[in-house]
Amino acid sequence: MGQQKAGFYERVDQALHDDFLRKALVDAQEKLREGKKTQSELLENWEDWRKRGEEIRRHTIENLDSYLEQFAKNAEKQGANVFFAKTKEEAVEYITRLAIEKEAKSVIKSKSMVSEEIHLNQALEAIGIEAIESDLGEYIIQLAKETPSHIIVPAIHKNKEQVAELFSKVAGEEIPDDPQILASFARKVLREKFLQADIGLSGANFAVAESGSIVLVSNEGNARLSTTVPKVHVVTMGMERIVPDWESLDTLISLLPRSATGQKITTYLTGITGPKRKADVDGPEEMHIIILDNGRSQILGTEYQNILHCIRCGACLNHCPVYRHIGGHAYGSVYSGPIGSVLTPLLEGLDDWKELPFACSLCGACSETCPVGIPLDDYLVKLRRDVVDSGNASWLEKKAFQTFGWVTGNPSIYQFGINLADTALKPFAEGDIIKKAPSVLGKWTKGKDLPKPPNQSFREWWEKKGEKQDGE
Ligand code: SF4
Repeated sequence: MGQQKAGFYERVDQALHDDFLRKALVDAQEKLREGKKTQSELLENWEDWRKRGEEIRRHTIENLDSYLEQFAKNAEKQGANVFFAKTKEEAVEYITRLAIEKEAKSVIKSKSMVSEEIHLNQALEAIGIEAIESDLGEYIIQLAKETPSHIIVPAIHKNKEQVAELFSKVAGEEIPDDPQILASFARKVLREKFLQADIGLSGANFAVAESGSIVLVSNEGNARLSTTVPKVHVVTMGMERIVPDWESLDTLISLLPRSATGQKITTYLTGITGPKRKADVDGPEEMHIIILDNGRSQILGTEYQNILHCIRCGACLNHCPVYRHIGGHAYGSVYSGPIGSVLTPLLEGLDDWKELPFACSLCGACSETCPVGIPLDDYLVKLRRDVVDSGNASWLEKKAFQTFGWVTGNPSIYQFGINLADTALKPFAEGDIIKKAPSVLGKWTKGKDLPKPPNQSFREWWEKKGEKQDGE
């Protein structure tokens, strides 16, 4: 999962100063949240569904080894090739080798977060193979040379004018910023690419162990074209995508679109079991399923195991006040929002991602909305502990908390410190508010107002009150 060149605070700062981005995020978040609320209320017993979803995910992850084995055996029985990739390099190596063997010139892709995680497009382009995103949002951000800023709405930060500008460059002429015209332009361009592609690549929302099938949910139909038109179909999936059987899938499929986009069900729900059979008229001649570990097995058996329950619905992003302000790119990782702040450091290590657990107000909205009950806010607190334990906290921060502990353990020094801070801060007040505090406090007042210290502290007020009562 690649980190963007600018540092975390720089990216956050850029996002906070991007008025368009902030408005787009608020609008999208509200729409998606409202949709989820309506759909979950319509079910009437949402909490029961949620509990059932959590039970299924817990049972599956606790028995992941046997379900993976069952899935692989059944998928192979149906004619698919299954490859377990320990690392992203192994996954990339398998796919690029296959593409070379097939003398592929282009790969058409439907949405796959795992392919983003392993940086597949760059690897294919490096060996001269064109990788084309066919999901409309992914196609837009590919043209903009960006990464997804939301798990399910990758181009959440782009408006129609920006999309028209990108499409006009492809067309070599001006394309109007009418959504209908833009969609039909993308359809026309992509239809040609589907027909020319040598390999179709998809992710897998779920993989059903009892039949060796993969299941895709989509709204655009591009997943069906990517997986049926080219002669070779490659699937990239995280090892935790498994569900035991179709009955379990039924529950999870009821939770996923409702939580993600506020839909009862997506326009297309596709199950694929093996490549084309003799009697089939259409379909790929070969199917390759790459099951990626890339750090996931290290999470098994730890206190963070339940993060593998995630069904990538994006609801935690849609309810997060931090994501609402900074958007996905500020996180710098493929997975953003609360799920990204937990998953990325667990997969990639805290050294490169130590800021992410702190990109959180600990309001708990993510855990409350998660359809499979992942305690995200609890994990974020634990990861903060791990940042300190692993020596990743800054020297200044460590000293600040040591001093804070010492001061609060000595009442007279504490009182002296409070009086000193009051006196030192008062000159910076404008009316009752300090808008620009000095030194490290300046970071706080950059984003928030600090109230001016009161003329009388609570302690003084309390003591005076006591004196008054004694005198009465
Ligand atoms: S952590 Fe929960 S809410 Fe967030 S994407 Fe995963 S399943 Fe959805």
